[in-house]
Amino acid sequence: MKRKTSQRAAIEQVFCERDRPLGIEEILESGRLLVESLNQATVYRNLKLLLENGWLRQVYHPSLGTLYERTGKGHHHHFHCRLCNRVYDLPGCALNEKEAAPAGFVVEDHECFLFGVCPACREK
Ligand SMILES: [Zn+2]
Ligand SMILES: [Zn+2]
Repeated sequence: MKRKTSQRAAIEQVFCERDRPLGIEEILESGRLLVESLNQATVYRNLKLLLENGWLRQVYHPSLGTLYERTGKGHHHHFHCRLCNRVYDLPGCALNEKEAAPAGFVVEDHECFLFGVCPACREK
């Protein structure tokens, strides 16, 4: 008998195929195509495991809420397409923390979202 894809493997596959930060609904929708038994509770349970073992990290988006992305990419920023609501990774960092904050502020971290229209939506 062929072993069925585990729920966790299905979720991992979704992240590897999309290669961008994902919200719970897209994870659930895409994961269900691989493993039918997936539901919101099982997705959350598996996301929690993948966060705990460091395979995923959370990204807090100002309007989309919590997104999940794969770790190991290094520091980078994100682009939010206002038409398709997808969030894309942007390479590298164009922000100089020392110049961005006034004197007296100690910057420890930053997160940056660019908003606009993605190439796929521009072509429509
Ligand atoms: Zn788009
Ligand atoms: Zn940065």
